Parts: sequence; C-alpha cells; structure tokens
Amino acid sequence: MALLLTASVLCACMRTSDQLQDETAGGADMVSRISSELVPLSTEAPAVAPTEGKTDGNAPATTDGQTTAPAETTSAKQEETTSEKATEKPTEKATEAPTEAPTQAPAAPASSGVTSKGYSIEVINGITYVGGVMIANKTYSLPSSYYPGGLTGDCSAAFSRMQSAAAGEGLNLFVLSGFRSYDTQAGLYDRYCARDGKAAADRYSARPGHSEHQTGLAIDVNSVSSDFEYTAEGQWLAANCYKYGFILRYMKGKEWATGYMYEPWHVRYVGEDLAAKIYNSGLCLEEYFGITSSYS
Ligand SMILES: [Zn+2]
Repeated sequence: MALLLTASVLCACMRTSDQLQDETAGGADMVSRISSELVPLSTEAPAVAPTEGKTDGNAPATTDGQTTAPAETTSAKQEETTSEKATEKPTEKATEAPTEAPTQAPAAPASSGVTSKGYSIEVINGITYVGGVMIANKTYSLPSSYYPGGLTGDCSAAFSRMQSAAAGEGLNLFVLSGFRSYDTQAGLYDRYCARDGKAAADRYSARPGHSEHQTGLAIDVNSVSSDFEYTAEGQWLAANCYKYGFILRYMKGKEWATGYMYEPWHVRYVGEDLAAKIYNSGLCLEEYFGITSSYS
C-alpha cells in the first residue's frame, strides 16, 4: 500500500473517485509531488474498447462532427461508471518538473472567426469546433450538459480496428479510460487541487468542462505511466495510431502548446485523414490548427 499512497497522477484523464479517496486518505505526505513516472499497480482493465452508449446523438468523431449534445440517460450513466472503474491505479515517483521552454509564443486566443492558421472557429450549442473538429482544451470548454455517455461509435470502432492490427503483431492494446463526465471530472480536479495545489493540478488534470475525455473521443491506452512510451505497445501506438484516425494529443515537449504534460497514452480520435495530416506535420493539435490552450 505504501506505493499507492505516494500517488499523484497525470492526465486530464484518469482515475476514479474511489481511487482518489484511497490515495488521499494516506498520501498527505506526498501531496506536492508531480508525476512524470507512474507505475500502475492494478491489472484491472477492459480487454476491449467500450462499445455501448453510441446509438444516438453521440458526436461523430470525424471532422464534420457538429452534432448537438445528446440527452443524458440512466444507461449512459451506468456505462460511465463501468468504464471509469476500469481505470488503473497508478503511482509515481517524484521527479523534476519538465523544463522545456516554449519554442514560440502561442497564438492569441480566438473565440470565433478563424484561427491564426486560417481554420474556422464555430461555437454550436456551446461546443467549439475548429476546422469542424470538436475541441476541448484549456481555452475551449464543453458545456456541463454535454454527455455522450461513452466513446462515440466512430471512435470505438476505430480503436477496435487498431486493437486488431496491434494484436496481429503480438501487442495488446486496451482502453484504460475513455469517456468521463463533467461531474466526474469536477470531482477529480477538486481532489487533485486539494492534494497538489491548483498550479500543479492544472498541469496534469483538466478543469471540469475542459477534459478531452468528456468528448467521448479520447482514450487512455493501456497505462498512465510515463514508462508506457518505452513499451512495445507504446511505441507501436505512437507510430501507428494515425492510421486508425488517432493522434497523440499531449506530445513530448509541447506542454507550452497543449497546456499539459507529456502523456504517451492519451490518444484523440480525429478521423483518418486529419490524423495523417497532423501526424505528418509533426505538430500537436493546437499548433496544427493555430489555437491556444490556456485558461482565461
Ligand atoms: Zn487521457
């Protein structure tokens, strides 16, 4: 249990309320530490991507995904709970904070019109689309009522294809954490702030409404340990996920643009065409579109 209690975790992602309670209960002495090396201790995780909760109204993960927010349902709530229970319980060693500096100044925030790279910015039902792509980052938030209830159909299907391809090479990819609701994120963020302080929490945990997991288009794959980068699965994911429509969202050395620490496990579904363009550009999503990710 000692290892568990050292935890503090990355990712606008991760972790259930129960896990946080466990950690908070005995981890007060480690509260100021920020992770860059996590060691998952639990092996509980789903073998396949969630496939439910996408029968109606879920935003398509493609670039034309401008749908309205679906109504919240009891079944969706249940699925969320199930999905969240699958989250691993990582622990960490305290390490130095990343020191990479911005390589260029972020573009000025824009709430409508076009981005600094000429992509359209549209707000529909409180949801921001840039170049037709739903955006959830520190600059652009989702309404609390936006509740797809699970991974979207396109996202889930794409993950299954990617999972099969990886399996063909002897690798095991699985959804560690997918959809997370506004309310769940609010609880997580509050607890992280109480434990680590707001500034530290903001580097690895999204404020409610700002988590990409609320879109139903983001997945934490396999592990929330920074060591995932060096596993066969992590390297395969980084090299191949674009072929299935995913991008690594919080890239190494891009905290200045994404607003978050490097997360080799967090992928976002944007569709195959756009994923290939972004991958080949070498840019993170914010750079590619010319948008910011910072709290106002
Ligand atoms: Zn994540």
